[in-house]
Amino acid sequence: MFKALVISKTGDQQECALRDVDEAEMMAGDVTLKVDYSTLNYKDGLAITGKAPVVRKFPMVPGIDGAGTVIASSHAQFKVGDKVVLNGWGVGETHWGCLAQSARLNGDWLIKIPTQFNTRQAMAIGTAGYTAMLCVLALEQHGVTPDKGEVLVTGAAGGVGSVAIAILAKLGYRVVASTGRLTESEYLKSLGATDIIDRATLSAPGKPLAKERWAGAVDTVGSHTLANVCAAMRYRGTVAACGLAGGMDFPSSVAPFILRGVTLAGIESVMAPRELRIDAWQRLARDLDPAKLDSMTNEITLDAAPGAAADIVAGKVRGRLVVDVNR
Ligand code: NDP
Repeated sequence: MFKALVISKTGDQQECALRDVDEAEMMAGDVTLKVDYSTLNYKDGLAITGKAPVVRKFPMVPGIDGAGTVIASSHAQFKVGDKVVLNGWGVGETHWGCLAQSARLNGDWLIKIPTQFNTRQAMAIGTAGYTAMLCVLALEQHGVTPDKGEVLVTGAAGGVGSVAIAILAKLGYRVVASTGRLTESEYLKSLGATDIIDRATLSAPGKPLAKERWAGAVDTVGSHTLANVCAAMRYRGTVAACGLAGGMDFPSSVAPFILRGVTLAGIESVMAPRELRIDAWQRLARDLDPAKLDSMTNEITLDAAPGAAADIVAGKVRGRLVVDVNR
């Protein structure tokens, strides 16, 4: 038996509770993990609160991320004792996830944790941090180098935003952070932001083109914010779009793309190919300062996760939340 959060649904009513689960109930997989830590991402918040139809099968153990030690494996690449990390692949949506003390997974979904990180740090990074790195890789691929000018990060005080700021600053970019929580300005500067702007300046409907400012951008917000970011990109700038914290819509025009050669780079972490994941995790080991990672991370217990899920959806969580599933 092990402890797990379990989401169940009766009629339209969804509920999430901490339960003792029998190993015999676990889904099929060729690697079994003793989970040390999981985490709460925005998507976990949506899954646990039921605010969006993230969970596709019930009952479901949530948790799109996990890090721990292999305790059984019939997969060629993993043996007992390996420290591994799981991000995405529909885990916590269609396959039982990692907000649990044990998880049985497909070994093809796992990667070994870079030796620079322990399992707690791997979950402080989580999907949010790995996605932030995918955004940085996309900016680099499109030629956004530090000398090109300012880079904007929206949803700055959230998980993706916080990690993106820390990485970009370490790489030498001048990072401007857009936030609705100006009280977090000192925190954002401590991560490496050089300037802070109020997100209200980006959230209202804007013009198709605005004064050119950003050489690059990491957008976690979507909707009018993304449209306004695109409108203010410099000639041949690139926006890495990964989020929808402000809305799923994209009320823009083609003007930035056809008149300024702006690139809108879509970022998707869940099904990203293994080689790209390994690349992103190696770059995180090189380009994310562990002290900054620590300063943006808070730890909670497994039974506190449902309450924290509501907080993250409400935009109240700063940085990253690690979940100690054994406490
Ligand atoms: P967080 O909740 O940690 O951060 C989101 C931040 O967005 C908040 O902290 C807040 O920042 C800002 N925000 C919240 N609500 C609004 C709003 N109504 N309007 C404008 N800004 C808002 O979430 P994550 O960092 O984990 O995820 C960020 C986004 O990225 C989510 O939409 C998530 O679904 C998406 N995502 C996508 C991935 C992919 O594969 N494409 C992978 C990972 C995440 P502040 O207070 O600073 O304004």
